Amino acid sequence: KAFGCTVPGKEAGWMEKAVPAIGPYDALVKPIVIAPCSSDVHNAFEIGSPAFLNNRVLGHEALAEVVEVGAEVKDFKPGDKIVVPAVTPDWRQPSIQDTYHQHIKNPNDSFRYAFSLDGVFAEFFLVPDADMNAAHLPDGMPYEKAVMACDMMTTGFHGAELAEIGFGESVAVIGIGPVGLMAVAGAVLRGAGRVMVVGTRQNCINIAREYGATDVISYKEGDIAKQIKAMTDRKGVDKVIIAGGNADTFAAAVTMVRPGGIVANINFYTGVPSLPIPLLAWGSGLSHKTLRGGLCPGGRRRMEKMLAMIQNGRVDPSRLITHTFRGLAEVEPAFQMMVKKPGDLIKPIVYI
Ligand code: NDP
Ligand code: ZN
Repeated sequence: KAFGCTVPGKEAGWMEKAVPAIGPYDALVKPIVIAPCSSDVHNAFEIGSPAFLNNRVLGHEALAEVVEVGAEVKDFKPGDKIVVPAVTPDWRQPSIQDTYHQHIKNPNDSFRYAFSLDGVFAEFFLVPDADMNAAHLPDGMPYEKAVMACDMMTTGFHGAELAEIGFGESVAVIGIGPVGLMAVAGAVLRGAGRVMVVGTRQNCINIAREYGATDVISYKEGDIAKQIKAMTDRKGVDKVIIAGGNADTFAAAVTMVRPGGIVANINFYTGVPSLPIPLLAWGSGLSHKTLRGGLCPGGRRRMEKMLAMIQNGRVDPSRLITHTFRGLAEVEPAFQMMVKKPGDLIKPIVYI
């Protein structure tokens, strides 16, 4: 029994699928805790109806228990509890050595759950190349902390990495849903000075401040680039991390970053063919502003590093969790909550 794209682009629902067959490096696992993601909603309804989504199981954030391992798996055995990253590359493709592990041949092709593998919203799912992609759940680590490492932490922290935040720098984090909140925490851990955040939900604002945000701006109260410029003596900020919004938000980010600064995008855009770059703010193409964006890093070592941050008390990502469900059947209301995004939601989890 699994929950996924029943009519790609239009309908998500329950389906029956065969238990996945594992290869020699893979593990068959059953979920312990899963978390729906905004990207599941993008995949289900906003990227059209590509053939690979036909009858595809959704979900890419999970802690799981190992049920069976392939003959070549060395570090995991049935009964082990593991943390599964959202991004599970095929480390045996030589072209992975040419580029970021998130992209082997095509953009984001290491985001295999939903794109080329059935996801985690199921009684059982497959972890490809378990030794390289799964991390042991550290003894005694609460599930609700560890499950936030799979995607929210690695993505938000990647925003801070892409922005190359240095001590004392001013940073704008646009969007303070769970991803943006982790970007705030990551920016502060990398030594940011002033951290200005853009969002309106009060519970997100409260947690942004707990993680170290210094100023809050509402995109509902006028142009955010103008607001940031007004608050920085017209200079703009050193770095921008985009974790929400639309094409206009991207243009605003280019405008609010100072010449030579970096705009780091971790937002997933849908529904527009391209993103605007305002020419004046771009210095007619000559402003030395760096614009980049990236899918979250995955794989075993990335998960182990995220878990080390939690284990050593550097960050408590369980602050993101606002709603807790129990039982596989509750994946549906948890997913629907992610579709509707009620005002009090930050992140739901489901104990399976
Ligand atoms: P949420 O919907 O929970 O949060 C979005 C945030 O953006 C909210 O703070 C919202 O404000 C704000 N926002 C909405 N509209 C605007 C606007 N016009 N201008 C400025 N801010 C705006 O999303 P998540 O945190 O769950 O995810 C954020 C994005 O990250 C998604 O696109 C998701 O798909 C993507 N993602 C990317 C990954 C990667 O690897 N790069 C991995 C995982 C997710 P308000 O407070 O008003 O709601
Ligand atoms: Zn995700």
